[in-house]
Amino acid sequence: MKTLLVTGANRGLGLEFCRQYAAAGCNVIAACRRPEQAEQLQALAGQYANIELQALDVADFSQIEALAAKLAERRIDVLLNNAGVYGDQSGRGFGKLDYQAWADTLAINVMAPVKLAECFLPHLQRSDKSLIASLSSLMGSMADNSSGGSILYRSSKAGLNAAMKSLAIDLRPRNIGVLILHPGWVRTDMGGPNGLIDVEESVSGMRRLIDRFDLADSGSFVKYDGSPLPW
Ligand code: NDP
Repeated sequence: MKTLLVTGANRGLGLEFCRQYAAAGCNVIAACRRPEQAEQLQALAGQYANIELQALDVADFSQIEALAAKLAERRIDVLLNNAGVYGDQSGRGFGKLDYQAWADTLAINVMAPVKLAECFLPHLQRSDKSLIASLSSLMGSMADNSSGGSILYRSSKAGLNAAMKSLAIDLRPRNIGVLILHPGWVRTDMGGPNGLIDVEESVSGMRRLIDRFDLADSGSFVKYDGSPLPW
């Protein structure tokens, strides 16, 4: 059975990934900043013995290294880079940009997924069909940007797309695939109450893409329903 490492597993899409993969019988390594406070994830882990909780703040790269060392002997089939922040704060658009918040957003949304891929490469190489699936956003698309704004978030997701596209090419000789996913506009803390779909629909769609993934499609940028997206 597949083993997944999910970051940002305590709420939103991350929590739903854990719920659905655990129900499907997969082994889920559910990583979040504060497992001791993650009540919903703890309840899920109480229900499913195949969920294990691990502490991980992805902005702290020494924690990524330590978790990779702690899990050194393990095989990981899917690295699910889900943790992310929006970064942009209302009233702090162009002219009032918060550059420290921007740096933090880039560290979490762009650098951490790459650092995770670097540190967990040996674990992924133990699988005969491994995949790095990263949650990006249509807001990272240049072609789709007709409304401007959201500079911190847009630039971070565009950066994530560029980094993941390179990883797809670099890791292909090692048979490691890379999928760049837009989950849709989803009703979570980040997506807000007006999102078009719920976590169940978004994650079911993304799971289908992950399950059917073929190395020939590595580096593609797709919506949860499988439709290709413009860069
Ligand atoms: P939420 O805001 O609901 O959840 C974000 C998750 O990321 C939380 O678990 C949060 O943990 C975690 N996280 C944030 N920073 C860190 C960190 N430094 N270390 C570890 N975990 C961290 O967001 P969603 O579930 O909606 O989003 C999940 C992903 O999907 C994100 O990458 C987002 O950009 C992307 N996305 C979402 C869309 C939507 O409509 N919802 C649309 C497009 C993309 P904590 O509770 O500790 O803060």
